[in-house]
Amino acid sequence: METLLYLSASETDGSLGQPALEALGAATSLAAALPGTTLLVGLVGDQVQPAANQIASCGAKRFLAVAGADFAAPRYASDAAAATALIQAAGATLVIAPGTSRWLRCLPGVAARVGGRADTHLTALETLNGQVHAHRWYYRQRMEGVFTRTQRPWLLVVDPGSQPAWVGLPGQASLEPLAVTLPDNARRTTVTGVREPAADAQTIRPDAQLLFVAGAGWTKKQADGQTHVPEAERLIRDFLRLSRASLGSSKSLVDLGGEGQAVLSFLSHLNQIGQTGATPRHPKGLATCCHGEEPHTVGWRFVNERRAISLDPNCGWARGKADVLYVADAFQVMNRVNALLASEAKV
Ligand SMILES: Cc1cc2nc3c(=O)[nH]c(=O)nc-3n(C[C@H](O)[C@H](O)[C@H](O)COP(=O)(O)OP(=O)(O)OC[C@H]3O[C@@H](n4cnc5c(N)ncnc54)[C@H](O)[C@@H]3O)c2cc1C
Repeated sequence: METLLYLSASETDGSLGQPALEALGAATSLAAALPGTTLLVGLVGDQVQPAANQIASCGAKRFLAVAGADFAAPRYASDAAAATALIQAAGATLVIAPGTSRWLRCLPGVAARVGGRADTHLTALETLNGQVHAHRWYYRQRMEGVFTRTQRPWLLVVDPGSQPAWVGLPGQASLEPLAVTLPDNARRTTVTGVREPAADAQTIRPDAQLLFVAGAGWTKKQADGQTHVPEAERLIRDFLRLSRASLGSSKSLVDLGGEGQAVLSFLSHLNQIGQTGATPRHPKGLATCCHGEEPHTVGWRFVNERRAISLDPNCGWARGKADVLYVADAFQVMNRVNALLASEAKV
């Protein structure tokens, strides 16, 4: 019989965000698949009553909370103290938390404090022969491992984007607050502010339906012997604005900045997709001016429908990496696509 604690932190408005609801989806499914499991909720944040009410109907037996200004901002020392107190008060044998930077930072340390084990970047949880099994990808997403543990408590940190979010009716949850007194040395780190790009400058959108990848070809000399970087910037920006796609890049393109060449100003290594970049999960992908080499396309592992535009009919995309390859000039194609999107937006 397991005691499963769903552990999460509230957003600044007191609610739970998408990754938190996805982890709750995993927790409620696992609890349902393990007869006799008791589900508890543990919440951390400045104010957590809105979060508890939001998930009041999730089937949890108790709603525990560590709340207050000390626990508003992510910070290793206070988050670790709060999580430790919640796990101990719950008597949890299993803990499920969202893989946000906040929990990824502190939960391995919490596992050491409570004599348990933590596994991060989990993409699925299931029961086999009545035992909990976790899925995780290894070697840059090339191999999937399925494993179990006997050690308890077992902290399972679930990757955002890998689970369906919990959906249910809000209600009035009765919170049980836990008093956690922080020593002075747990308050040494303070968050002085948040710096983030303006909404329209934010090109990485994990929830987007489409991944748009820009390759180095956008900055290369074209048929007229000239480069057209400002035009490439305009086309890509317009497309992102009109389609709300997420922007990915090949390594060659983001590396150009370090080589002193003309670059697209809004790209950074954070946009890089591939073996040494990200492996995002979008339903569709469109690669442009990119050759489709293996170290790049390995980052497309979870993109279900793939299309590419390249001048080279023998590029990697043509060799089984894409569902559809348009052998065409991406400048011309994207010009036309943007015009169509703009006219659709006006209708
Ligand atoms: C250890 C290692 C790790 C790596 N990790 C990564 C990684 O994580 N991610 C990654 O991306 N790469 C990675 N690489 C590099 C990878 O092998 C390729 O070098 C890189 O992906 C090439 O980028 P590209 O296709 O944008 O550029 P290029 O190879 O220069 O290709 C540009 C393409 O644009 C096309 N083109 C040019 N103009 C147009 C136009 N007008 N219209 C249409 N098409 C046009 C050209 O025909 C060409 O096919 C790694 C390499 C190594 C060795």
